[in-house]
Amino acid sequence: MSAAFTYLDHNATSPLRPAAFDAMVEVLKAGGNPSSVHRTGRRARATVDAARRQVAALVGALPTEVVFTSGGTEANNLVLAGSRSRRVIVSAVEHDSVRLARVGAEIAPVDGNGVVDLSALERLLAASAEPALVSVMFANNETGVLQPIAEVARLAHAVGALVHCDAVQGAGRARVDLHGLGVDYLSLSAHKLGGSSGVGALIVRGGVPLSPDRRGGGQEANRRAGTENVAGIAGFGVAAEAANGGLDVVALRDQLETSLMEIARGARIFGTGAPRICNTTCVSMPGVKAETQVMALDLAGVGVSAGAACSSGKVQHSSVLTAMGVPPAEAETAIRISLGWNTRAADIERLIAAWRDLYIRVAHSDIGRARAA
Ligand code: PLP
Repeated sequence: MSAAFTYLDHNATSPLRPAAFDAMVEVLKAGGNPSSVHRTGRRARATVDAARRQVAALVGALPTEVVFTSGGTEANNLVLAGSRSRRVIVSAVEHDSVRLARVGAEIAPVDGNGVVDLSALERLLAASAEPALVSVMFANNETGVLQPIAEVARLAHAVGALVHCDAVQGAGRARVDLHGLGVDYLSLSAHKLGGSSGVGALIVRGGVPLSPDRRGGGQEANRRAGTENVAGIAGFGVAAEAANGGLDVVALRDQLETSLMEIARGARIFGTGAPRICNTTCVSMPGVKAETQVMALDLAGVGVSAGAACSSGKVQHSSVLTAMGVPPAEAETAIRISLGWNTRAADIERLIAAWRDLYIRVAHSDIGRARAA
């Protein structure tokens, strides 16, 4: 990423941390298959084991509880699609890799802030004697809203259900603790905290069942077949250790939000009635489509994404904002700004200035014309 560009899209992917890059290059140069018995293989095994300890430490888990995967999507699919539970309950604001992983999943609704409705979840859990798997995320990727995970786990465990938490947007930003939260499974992704894309982990609490989704290798203690992505795993470990203290951007986020609210009349920040993670702002600019904002900000040298972030380059309706009851016309004007490990005050100032320029140029004149017409 060039220094001339202000990157505020860490929820899509965070830039690779230099230390993670260096570790990956070293491993790529060294080569080796961790299953080989000779010294090159043993060195690769040691690299994977070291990263396993670093990733485990990030979420208060034991190294044996870490199953490396190709990312958050695979971790989510591994637990949801592979679950032996015949009933699966997911919250209405989950990432697609949870929401769509299991056909027929029951949906737990959320309130206007996007927080899971615990009474509704309790009713769903009580509706059948069949033990369920419940999946509720740690922090939402579009709004940053935090979920009451410990409470979800308490309700679910009280009726014999298992609990999965997609902590892809939480780990390394807020304190995520497997045993403190009381969950059975946690999903992580390296590229949201400064590792590379294409690597992640499913944390499986000791003694909790997991059905592998592929055959053909005994790696990861028979839980995930396939030769390990050693370089990616090494970078993940280094990034996890660097991110372990959490992210200190709340003051920048608050300054950003105060300024945006002063600039645009009728703008709204979504989810402010609930606890939110420190790095994410989902904000609407009245009358200006998200795509227009994203393009104008890009031209001004600032990278953000549309509130309804997309996997295909196309902006779709945000299922998160829809579940929160946001009218479609307003949801279409929402962008997501997400800060990360290398965000500085100057980045926030640049975004504020670009957003102000756009509002004055486009919104103000258009809205003025519309009112006059
Ligand atoms: N879960 C959440 C909440 C996400 O935001 C993402 C990616 O944006 C994923 C899962 C998927 O992770 P990955 O890109 O590593 O497959």
